[in-house]
Amino acid sequence: MERVLVSACLLGEPVRYDGTAATVEHAVLHRWRAEGRIVSCCPEVAAGLPTPRSCVELEGADAEAVLEGRAQVLARDGADATVPFVKGARLARDLCRDLGVRVAVLKDRSPSCGSLRVHDGTFTGRLVAGQGLASALLRRDGVQVFSEDQWEEAARCLERLEAASCPSLRVIE
Ligand code: SF4
Repeated sequence: MERVLVSACLLGEPVRYDGTAATVEHAVLHRWRAEGRIVSCCPEVAAGLPTPRSCVELEGADAEAVLEGRAQVLARDGADATVPFVKGARLARDLCRDLGVRVAVLKDRSPSCGSLRVHDGTFTGRLVAGQGLASALLRRDGVQVFSEDQWEEAARCLERLEAASCPSLRVIE
């Protein structure tokens, strides 16, 4: 059975930077829970960061540049938080490798979990197309990453993967 990595805050855990959760109620999530597919992960907490913690943004909104050492993860006061945030992304990636996870649904707009949009690095609330550090590393490994607005797309992806690994099953589009 394919397992799915899901951001812990979407599952109701109050692990966001401000100590809140971002709880989602969706039929796909409920079904996956009942099927025992869900693997919960908060990359930032896994890296040992406290909750609550400083709000950070990716310099230039560029996760790949951070992972390659050309940009930093910065707090509003300019403090460099690159090391723990990269560590958390690597831990999420390693978890997926260990469990063979090929699909993830992660909280968008996060510097770790964003998959469609992230803050632009200026702390002005502006969002730009981009991804967080964990999403970037997962995608490098071939994991299909979706946001919390894409449960149906994620479910179809999962069905296709399961059908491909079990030729006797056919996916009806
Ligand atoms: Fe949620 Fe991901 Fe941020 Fe953790 S790192 S609080 S799982 S968005």
